[in-house]
Amino acid sequence: MPRLTPKLLLCALFCATLPELTAGSLPEPAALQKAVDTAHATFKNEPGGANASYIPCLAKVPSKLFGVVIVTVDGKVYQAGDVDYAFAIESVSKPFTAALVMNESGPQAILKQIGVEPTGMPFNSVMAVELEPARSVNPFVNAGAMASVSLVKAKNPQEKWAKILAHYSKFAGEPLAMSDEVYQSEASCNQHNRAIAELLFSYHRLYADPLETCDIYTRQCSVLVTAKQLAVMGATLANGGVNPITQERCLDAASVPKLLAVMMMAGFYDESGAWAWKSGLPAKTGVGGGIVSIVPGKMAIVGFSPPLDAAGNSVRGASAIHQIVAELNLNLFNPR
Ligand code: GLN
Repeated sequence: MPRLTPKLLLCALFCATLPELTAGSLPEPAALQKAVDTAHATFKNEPGGANASYIPCLAKVPSKLFGVVIVTVDGKVYQAGDVDYAFAIESVSKPFTAALVMNESGPQAILKQIGVEPTGMPFNSVMAVELEPARSVNPFVNAGAMASVSLVKAKNPQEKWAKILAHYSKFAGEPLAMSDEVYQSEASCNQHNRAIAELLFSYHRLYADPLETCDIYTRQCSVLVTAKQLAVMGATLANGGVNPITQERCLDAASVPKLLAVMMMAGFYDESGAWAWKSGLPAKTGVGGGIVSIVPGKMAIVGFSPPLDAAGNSVRGASAIHQIVAELNLNLFNPR
């Protein structure tokens, strides 16, 4: 047994306080449930927006659906509304594939091989690829997300897809599956994404076959999640990369702040500035109607409802999250 020197004692004390430092202090359970209930009640009849229609099967999802969930870093769930409806994850998948690349190749791979600059342009902008020296721009727009897919290490496309799906499932703490209906629907009209993949490849910023990569990207967007599962995925990022329910590590701790920093800058594409202005939190949005927002060390908040604004972001989902952030004082830039 080592002798208990003052240095060792100090180190033991420091380590003992570490978990508390990462967990942060959480609002009371009653306050969390009240915030979720109030946000759901306030916005459930908010009329704005329209379902995504450029992907035919997303237009058919009932527009009335609306779910709000908080999952905290101690694994507790606070929910209201349609939190068990399985919807297409779409672009909310992007951080989780980027996380896999970070695990396999280190966070620097994102910085060097994709980029971390916000575009201020729509998620599928070809202009951004043409204008930005990094080309693929960042992992949260389609170009950078396909670059992430191309960087995942695998012997063949089947193995790569299986790896991505397994990785998402680990984040969710339960097995997730792709919807064949969504996939077929997207694949029938993803010419624009195929063009972006080819363009990136021509600039040497896509690192695998372009059409194969676009196909796997389309599959990842077609994975179904419930608002509750998505909130567990987000809470894993809030919890330093460890799933708060299964306790499995999904992302290296050192990569988490880097991923969240880029999410803050680019998670809402051309509305990222307005989102940060209002919420002061990183968040990722998708045209399936899901938004996940991360409060580091505390929780993830998910708002799900299909009608989208002009930038492709869920109207009710965003309103619900903004209201919860204000009520519980969760803006990262407020002194606490
Ligand atoms: N699959 C969709 C696309 O590539 C995802 C877009 C999104 O959710 N913003 O167009």
